[in-house]
Amino acid sequence: MAIVKRRNVRLYLERELTGDTLALGEREAHYLGTVLRLRSGDRLVAFDGRGTERAAVVRSIGRRGAELELEDALEPLPESPLALTLVQAVVKSDAMDRIVQKATELGVAAIAPAFTEFGVVKLENERSERRVEHWLRIAQSACEQSGRHVPPAVHPPAPLGAVLDALAPAGLRLALVPGASRKLDALPAHAAAATVAIGPEGGWGAEDLRELRGAGFEEIDLGPRILRADTAALAACALLQQRWGDL
Ligand code: SAH
Repeated sequence: MAIVKRRNVRLYLERELTGDTLALGEREAHYLGTVLRLRSGDRLVAFDGRGTERAAVVRSIGRRGAELELEDALEPLPESPLALTLVQAVVKSDAMDRIVQKATELGVAAIAPAFTEFGVVKLENERSERRVEHWLRIAQSACEQSGRHVPPAVHPPAPLGAVLDALAPAGLRLALVPGASRKLDALPAHAAAATVAIGPEGGWGAEDLRELRGAGFEEIDLGPRILRADTAALAACALLQQRWGDL
């Protein structure tokens, strides 16, 4: 008989999960009751993304709030041994949402959105802050759904040069460029940290490529077909996690 992975309802809560009970506010109660359809007595797992994961039971739930009883501490799923950062040219919002969701499922440690020469999406400061909050919520629910404990860091979108300047120095740096002379199999067998950069639908501009090279990025080709930016991002995350991480 096939072993079915049981899917627990998991709830990400940005606060300390200590003690025996936890009071939830109106929004969280609405989410539990209306979206997840939990009732009094139903079980779930609550986690804080900072190492604490607890079994929980819904004690009461109403319009104004809910109360959880916190039970045993559970072992959080370990993060991938590969610290993978995705530098992603900002693409249109539905593709960007998919990238954040699926890159989270695939275990990326950080997502750094970048404005590039041929990127069509521009965000003003205020909109950019709201985008980051929106992406963080998507990343958090991808953690709830996938069993992952730690949501990835999502950096505010910035011009490519500034994104590259702010990168942690460690690890390999790869830029996906269709037709580049090197392929993934030319890379070393082991890596603990890597950054992969994906261009926008219009591709990298000459200035983008100059900046990437200047920051030590190696250009890598991902095969004969041109992938949409979101497909390229997810293929790269999966392939690198397979090569150096936990897939
Ligand atoms: N017309 C553009 C295509 C952009 S596709 C061009 O010719 O560059 C969007 C991004 O996905 C690219 O900038 C690149 O980072 C990545 N990508 C898509 N297909 C790829 C491939 N076969 N090899 C390497 N990178 C690829």
